[in-house]
This record gives sequence, structure tokens and C-alpha cells, in this order.
Amino acid sequence: MVSLLIKQVGLAKKIDPGAAVRQWNDWKWQMRHAVRDIPSFEELTGVHFNREERRELEKTIEHFPLNITPYYLSLIDTADMKNDPVYKQCFPSPEELNVEKCDMVDPLAEEEDSPVPGITHRYPDRVLFLVSNVCAMYCRHCTRKRKVGNVDYIPDRETILKGIDYIRDNPSIRDVLLSGGDPLMLPDDYLDWILSELDNIPHVEVVRIGTRVPVVLPCRITDDLVEMLKGHHPLWINTHFNHPKEVTPASREALRKLADAGIPLGNQCVLLAGVNDCPQIMKKLFQKLVQNRVRPYYMFQCDLSEGLSHFRTSVSKGIEIIENLVGHTSGFAVPTYVVDAPGGGGKIPVMPNYLISSATNKVVMRNYEGVITTYTEPDAYKAAKCDGNCQACHLQHDDVSSENEVGIARLLSDRDETISIIPSNNRRIGRRYDA
Ligand SMILES: *Cc1c(COP(=O)(O)O)cnc(C)c1O
Ligand code: SF4
Repeated sequence: MVSLLIKQVGLAKKIDPGAAVRQWNDWKWQMRHAVRDIPSFEELTGVHFNREERRELEKTIEHFPLNITPYYLSLIDTADMKNDPVYKQCFPSPEELNVEKCDMVDPLAEEEDSPVPGITHRYPDRVLFLVSNVCAMYCRHCTRKRKVGNVDYIPDRETILKGIDYIRDNPSIRDVLLSGGDPLMLPDDYLDWILSELDNIPHVEVVRIGTRVPVVLPCRITDDLVEMLKGHHPLWINTHFNHPKEVTPASREALRKLADAGIPLGNQCVLLAGVNDCPQIMKKLFQKLVQNRVRPYYMFQCDLSEGLSHFRTSVSKGIEIIENLVGHTSGFAVPTYVVDAPGGGGKIPVMPNYLISSATNKVVMRNYEGVITTYTEPDAYKAAKCDGNCQACHLQHDDVSSENEVGIARLLSDRDETISIIPSNNRRIGRRYDA
């Protein structure tokens, strides 16, 4: 780690001869000196590309711009650059220009499920609210490549207020997820204003921020920022570490500050070919996160966004990773593996199978060691039948939600008569006499 510090001071001097540790740790200095073109990258790392390579790289960044903070750049191991997980996440690859048949510009249909600009309302009780288009670093695997870096802009107050109004007008929204771009790239007072507006909406029970700042620009987590965030509890933060190498003294310090401010921390990583598609690397990452009070929340299958085909793994790789974690390490070091369904279906959890068989009063399961075991179910289990009348029920609950049940839960419900869910363009139904 001493060597990393020496490397960083050296880089600081190369970028700006008058710079010292103080400048290096100033996030605005970091942003001002972000690497945005190939020649600067070559100059700072001492790596050289030939003419052909450079031409390809230039072509790539015309489509998907390049932007690396000096801090994140300092984590690259130039001696083994082509295999370096940090390099692969921040430096363009001409493979980004390959377009596969399954690729989509907006695979998650975030724009289609958007009632007002910036808001994606997909789930019944929560919304995604994009409040910034700016990121500290442009991840090569970004699912919102269509937006990030396109135009670095911050939505004005009027646009933000449209989103706030939508949330205020929809009492079913109890959870608001601020994302972008990176919300922590906003000026403190602007973010403070957005959070205050949300605090003032009585039905908003919790706000979360999705940010990669602790990974790519940890000095952005200043005392002032943390002090401001602390005033908006209950506030949760989800960050985005993908490789144990990214857990550095600086990022640990950023996490410590946030955790000390009482902010529950989670991590959403993306499974990326050639970066972290290894059970041992993932286990190390999750254990390191837990050590720093970050709960691994989701592990994402790489989306079908354009330009990401070289990062995608099979779904089986993700299942293999979860198989290597469950039982093998602390339960809270195991994230939920999810595939975000193309077309806006949302996150679908995927797991190895543990339930092997079942009979009238018994289930057969296997554990992580391969031990096959049984659980005997009660002979007479009388579940409370729910007719929606909580006053009459003995389970001491005030009221069932007035909303209709949704999806499979609806098929399971005692109160709903629905017996099947049928796709809207089902041919068999279309052939019916009275259809
Ligand atoms: C991921 C996501 C959420 C939040 O989902 P959780 O499972 O609650 O974390 C909300 N809205 C959209 C559109 C999302 O993609
Ligand atoms: S920080 Fe997030 S939104 Fe920004 S480039 Fe990286 S993945 Fe995309």
C-alpha cells in the first residue's frame, strides 16, 4: 500500500507539477484532471499504442467517451495491464463497437416505463429517479451507456420538480432510489435540496442513493457531504465494487465515514467476463465488503445493452458463483444473483436448486456439502385463511393493503379468484368462440 501512495504522488506531480497529497485528495482537482483522451492516458501510464490500435480506440471513444479519474487510473497495474480488472472497467476496448443481434439501446425499457422525465416506475411501491447524468468515471460496462457521457448535464430544478411532483401525487411510492449518472456528483446543496423535497413527502419512507463514488473517487465523500447526508435519514446507499482490488485504503475510509454516519451500505456488483467471473474473486470481494460494513446486495447478470457483449458471461457462471458462496461463507456475504429482464420485466433472482423432492408431509433438500436431508412438515398445519378482514383475524394485523394482489402472489391469494395468468396475445384464447 505504501507503493500505491508513492505511485499516486508521482502521478499527481506528472499531471500538475505543483500538486501534492492535498490536491490529490480534492475531488474537484480529480475531476478537473480526469483522463479523457488516449494521448493523456499514454503520457500518464507510459503505455504506448501503435497507430492501428490508437485509431480503433479513437473510434470507440467517439461512441462511448472515455473518462478516468487519476485516482482510479492509479489502481491499474501497468505491468499486466491487459489482464487488469481496473483497466478493463475504465479503458475502452474496440470490442465495444461489436453489435450483437440481442443488443438493445435500452434493454430494461427504462424510458418506456417512464411517466415523467427521469422517473422509471416499474414496481408497485418504489421508483427509480435519475437525478444526474454525470459520473466520476465512465464504466465501460455501464448499462446506461446510451445516456452517460452523452451530454454531461445536471437536470435543472424544474425537471427535478416534475419528478418530485409525480412522487408526491402517488401515495403508493414509499421508496425512492436516486441514481443517474451518479447522484453524488451533484453539488452538496443541490442534492441537499432534492433530499429535503423528498423528506417533505409523508409517504416516502426511505430514500436510497446508488453511487460508484466510493470506488472511483473516494475523496468525494467529504466530511461536509457526510454531515449533509446524515440530516436525511433514513437514507441508504448502494455502491458498486466489482473486484477486491478496488477496496483500497482510500475507499475504505470513504465507507467508514458513511457507515459511521449511520447510513446502511449495500453493494451491487456486475458479473463481468475477464474481470470477476471467478468464485474465488467474488468471495474475496464480498468478504472484504462485509469487513467494511457493506452488505453485498445484488450481483447482476450483465445486461443486453449495446457494446457490452464482450463482458457477458453465461447465467450458469453466476449460479456457480452463488453455489460457491452459500454455506461456504457468512450468509450476509452472499448477494442475490439477479438477471434484469430485457423489456422491463425487472430483476429476476436466480439460485442453484436446493429443493430436491417432496411428498405429502416431507421435503427433501440438499445442503452445500451435498448432504441430502429431509424436513418433515406438520401433519396438521392450519394456515389462516385470508378474506381480507384483518379485524376478524387472530393474526393482529391492522389492514391488508388496499391494492390488488400482483402476479404469482395473486394466484396464491385466498382472496382472489384468478386461476391463471395468460399472455395477452395467446392464440388458443384467440380461437375461442366468444373471444
Ligand atoms: C432495481 C430497480 C428498483 C429497485 O429494486 P429493488 O429490488 O427494490 O432494489 C426500482 N426500480 C427500478 C426501475 C429498478 O431497476
Ligand atoms: S458509475 Fe454507474 S452510471 Fe456511471 S458509468 Fe459507471 S455504471 Fe454507468
